[in-house]
Amino acid sequence: MLNDCVFCAIAAGEIPSTKVYEDENVFAFRDINPQAPVHILVIPKTHVTGVSTITEENSGLVARCFEAIAKIAAQEKLEKGFRVISNCGHDAGQTVMHLHFHILAGVNMGEKIL
Ligand code: AMP
Ligand code: ZN
Repeated sequence: MLNDCVFCAIAAGEIPSTKVYEDENVFAFRDINPQAPVHILVIPKTHVTGVSTITEENSGLVARCFEAIAKIAAQEKLEKGFRVISNCGHDAGQTVMHLHFHILAGVNMGEKIL
């Protein structure tokens, strides 16, 4: 492993995961501790620490992630809707310092504030 990042290791296949989607730039897998009936993590294969380190140089990865999210939503038949969340930093509760987008679905979240 080049670094100690668990999500880099998952994207490289060095740590097992339940893969949902993969292309040249993006890897998606089921969250090990799901917070909704459908809970998928979408990550760029390139290491970026989080939303606060997105720049003009690496923001294409964010676009690639969201293109993947649209495909995953169709693949997983999330036509009733889904939520996309990215926690950034301590106060947001980010625990893995590799940019990731949570897809949450399978329950009506309309009543919640967040
Ligand atoms: P965050 O708290 O936003 O940084 O999200 C990190 C997410 O990664 C949490 O929801 C964890 O349950 C999930 N997670 C951590 N390790 C793994 C793993 N090995 N496989 C799948 N999901 C993981
Ligand atoms: Zn990483």
